[in-house]
Amino acid sequence: AAAVDWARVRADFPVLTREVHGKPLIYLDSANTGQKPASVIEAVDDFYRRHNANVSRAVHALGTEATEAYEGARGKLAKFLNVRADELVLCSGTTFAINLVAYSWALPRLGPGDAIVLTRMEHHANIVPWQLVAQRTGATIKVAELDDRGDLDLEGLRALLTPEVKLLALTHVSNVLGTVNPVREICREARRRGIVTLVDGSQAAPHRPLDIAAIGCDFYALTGHKMSGPTGTGVLWARREHLEAMPPFIGGGEMIKEVRFEGTVFNDPPHKFEAGTPNIAGFVGLGAAVDYLSALGMARIEAREQALLDYATAALSAIDGLRIFGAPKEKAAVISFLVEGAHAHDLATLLDLEGVAIRSGHHCAHPLMQHFGVPATCRASLAFYNTFEEIDAFAAAIDKVRRLLV
Ligand code: PMP
Repeated sequence: AAAVDWARVRADFPVLTREVHGKPLIYLDSANTGQKPASVIEAVDDFYRRHNANVSRAVHALGTEATEAYEGARGKLAKFLNVRADELVLCSGTTFAINLVAYSWALPRLGPGDAIVLTRMEHHANIVPWQLVAQRTGATIKVAELDDRGDLDLEGLRALLTPEVKLLALTHVSNVLGTVNPVREICREARRRGIVTLVDGSQAAPHRPLDIAAIGCDFYALTGHKMSGPTGTGVLWARREHLEAMPPFIGGGEMIKEVRFEGTVFNDPPHKFEAGTPNIAGFVGLGAAVDYLSALGMARIEAREQALLDYATAALSAIDGLRIFGAPKEKAAVISFLVEGAHAHDLATLLDLEGVAIRSGHHCAHPLMQHFGVPATCRASLAFYNTFEEIDAFAAAIDKVRRLLV
């Protein structure tokens, strides 16, 4: 494969030329939300300027164009993820996707005596919906724990997969530790025991080649805004048999074939789950994002980010009093850390004044913070558009503000 000119790639992202507080922006918060290349911004702009109409309703030219653009995005996503387009429900993001499974799949099926298995490293989006289901059905939640490195305790997880377990929901990649879970092996094991699996792919889809079919899960959720697409876009992939069997989650227009007061005939999946006017422009943008990522190549993106991660890990490890959380076997480009004697928020606030954008807090992962016995960490998350020079500047900035705080 031809070498990529990463400086040119970076130049595709308009926001990265910004200054904040008089300093060049160093954006290290891509796990929170990713920046957008010009092609995505232009696709959204072009949609509103030239094609704007509602989908699946009007026979006029613009209506047809809008429908083709929206369904075209579904097709691009299907190819990108290696699944069937009619198994992709387009929605507002991972949070909605997981809630859809919770309400449409789990709620009617689970009852007292059933169990759901989660892991200690889940984002709240993959915890709270299951707690709501558990409260309403009487099912219980069991938690797979982590080892010292921040990897899943696979033996412990296996031991949890007992006959009362109906669902295993776990993240593909941890948004805090960067841990890449062996979801293929885990889902295969669960499937052998008749347990349905949901994988939260929010932090995987933007960073590595994805083949959902090969993972062999039942549900895969992801969010568009972390993978160079607009906010308010996301995808739930589900096996067709589940989509056929599940009742709709949200009712309204677009999701029906015929409505009578005596009873309504729902549309076929995936449309059955897409009530109301969708985020059409958002998905046009997400389609453009998929084109952009595909042209770069996810394997190249993964290699680039791995190199940046190794470099950043070495640079941060050299800083006095800095502790990195987790050292999993396979790790995505996320570094959670604390500096001895400095509060996470203070550090992040002072780094902001240096132009460095990182996140501080619990990262929507309270149970993981409880595991490490800290209320918060700082988190630097990298993307392919970051540079080695930015990491040098980031490390120098930590060293500078550390002296102010400690
Ligand atoms: N799961 C994980 C692992 C995440 O990192 C995030 C976003 N931080 C979510 C779920 C939720 O995604 P969204 O807010 O886009 O629904």
